[in-house]
Amino acid sequence: MKKKNPWFVFFWIMLFIIVFMLINSAKQRGQEVDLEYSQFKQYIKAKSVSKVIVSSDFIKGQFRDTDGVLKKFKTIPMDDSNLIKDMEDNNVLEFSSAQRNGWLAPLLLNWGFIILLILFCLWMMRGMAGGSKQAMSFGKTKAKLAGKNAAKKVTFKDVAGCNEAKEELQEIIEFLKDPAKFQKLGGKIPKGILLFGAPGTGKTLLAKAVAGEAGVPFFSSSGSEFVEMFVGVGASRVRDLFDKGRKSAPCLLFIDEIDAVGRHRFAGIGGGHDEREQTLNQLLVEMDGFDTKEGVILIAATNRPDVLDPALLRPGRFDRQVVVPSPYLKDREEILTVHSRKITLGDDVNLNVIAKRTPGFVGADLANLVNEAALLAARHSQKSVSMKNMEEAIDRILAGPQTKSRLMSEKEKKVIAYHEAGHSLVAKLLPSADPVHKVSIVPRGPALGYTLQLPEEDKYLTSKTEFFDRLSILFGGRVAEEVIFSEITTGAQNDIAKATDIATRMVTEFGMSDKVGPISLQKPNQEVFLGRDISSPDRHSGKTSEIVDEEIKNIINSAKDKAVALIKGNISILNKIVDYLLERENLTGQDIDIIMKGEELSPILQDGNVETNVETDKKETLKNLDVLLG
Ligand code: ADP
Ligand code: ZN
Repeated sequence: MKKKNPWFVFFWIMLFIIVFMLINSAKQRGQEVDLEYSQFKQYIKAKSVSKVIVSSDFIKGQFRDTDGVLKKFKTIPMDDSNLIKDMEDNNVLEFSSAQRNGWLAPLLLNWGFIILLILFCLWMMRGMAGGSKQAMSFGKTKAKLAGKNAAKKVTFKDVAGCNEAKEELQEIIEFLKDPAKFQKLGGKIPKGILLFGAPGTGKTLLAKAVAGEAGVPFFSSSGSEFVEMFVGVGASRVRDLFDKGRKSAPCLLFIDEIDAVGRHRFAGIGGGHDEREQTLNQLLVEMDGFDTKEGVILIAATNRPDVLDPALLRPGRFDRQVVVPSPYLKDREEILTVHSRKITLGDDVNLNVIAKRTPGFVGADLANLVNEAALLAARHSQKSVSMKNMEEAIDRILAGPQTKSRLMSEKEKKVIAYHEAGHSLVAKLLPSADPVHKVSIVPRGPALGYTLQLPEEDKYLTSKTEFFDRLSILFGGRVAEEVIFSEITTGAQNDIAKATDIATRMVTEFGMSDKVGPISLQKPNQEVFLGRDISSPDRHSGKTSEIVDEEIKNIINSAKDKAVALIKGNISILNKIVDYLLERENLTGQDIDIIMKGEELSPILQDGNVETNVETDKKETLKNLDVLLG
């Protein structure tokens, strides 16, 4: 839950007080009779006035009107030197000058609205500026201090894999532990270290662990907090961050997403972003200004090293760059082990198998996977987390939670079954395709059904044939619908988008079209807001464009034709797969193999699980996860 903002509470209290006072004064005013000064004098002379309070702005008091009713009055004073004498002569029992009844009330009344307005503006602006916690500390960094709490200390033990990065950072730890000793030995320590890596690969974790290992304070902030609406705020926050660092030296400053401030300057439409540029300049000034002797080390993280301003990478600034790679098989297993320490694992859980099933997962995904599996186990009141929980967690992360509640008509279900069966049949029939792992017509997240293919191992190169086969598989779904129902649905939208993307890349990036030849026609950097290369012209002429379009169409058409031939030639198998799919909703790759051999599947067990041969099941889980087809 979000914490209540103290300013927000203050704002409401102010509003309440002002409204209360306004109502109060309106009430009072309602009971008062406004008198002309002449009438006032007449009432005095008629001895009807009993009480008078005189101030420079008003005269107030009590009188009896002609009907004898006691009322309050108010009138505007005039320059009348006889007033006091008249009052004395006419039995006015009490008269006095107005005493000041506190300064707060009139002040609030008169200024309340203005104060309120200012407060409101501040509040609004703060909201726009990205929701900082305190309206009045615009110029202060929001850098959080971590690492004081020894119990929560993060160390290298919590970071699995990344061995090279750890080695690179070892020196920094030695330095932070005892800066003086290091100086004596004459070692030269980099001021800034830049961690490169995809989101979730553990950059923040690594930085935290460095501080933890060295036992120094860790200030973490994010580049985005330095880019505010107001010019100068970012720069002042940078200054504040470094000030904080100097005061707590030796310590570690961490800036996440440095690309938010550190983008190449003088770029973007309109020549750049003044505020960002100012902030970046301030950062450079601070980095040049401090000496490692002070014992302050700056670590920054980014997943976009290509957009960084070269000035940041110059010697004396971020002169050391450390790559934090996405984890490979062994690292994935280690990360899973680290995170499984906090949960109770069942005997059947094999983390190595899970690691093999999760290529492309980064540390954050794997942490999430373990957590999801634990939640699933808790939901079923299990004592430990089972392999089944883990498998389900993988599926969840890949495709969102199973949406059982989605109701589907029988006809729709049939269309989806044919669509998915089409994908998997084509995949099974093509020799270079990745093995089909699972086919399902249970909706997951946005997908109505899915076919999961898993490559045998992590793959780094893809051949033209493999691309081509992938296209045929993508079209397998729609083709099956077309062949069976002579009608097409919107269900293939995602497949078509993927296919078009693959075909386009084959032609324009990988040089896989003979007519176009091995030329890269891709624009170097198409994101305008990243700056650079905005004005880079299209590298190819209109005529080339035509050929490219033609080639993409050719590739797609022949891949589709291949799918049509495969489906039409194996209609009976397709029907069989669909029958089983409608009955069981999920089929494994082995199930499909059995169906293709013309054999029957083993019957369903009581709890709805398909009885599987343990031997083949083990083999199956060894395959890795790659393509997910909707
Ligand atoms: P980044 O800063 O690179 O985006 P984080 O450091 O914030 O990634 O990682 C997010 C979470 O993912 C961490 O808190 C941790 O739980 C998990 N994680 C990431 N990488 C690793 C790793 N190598 N070992 C253990 N846990 C990791
Ligand atoms: Zn599909």
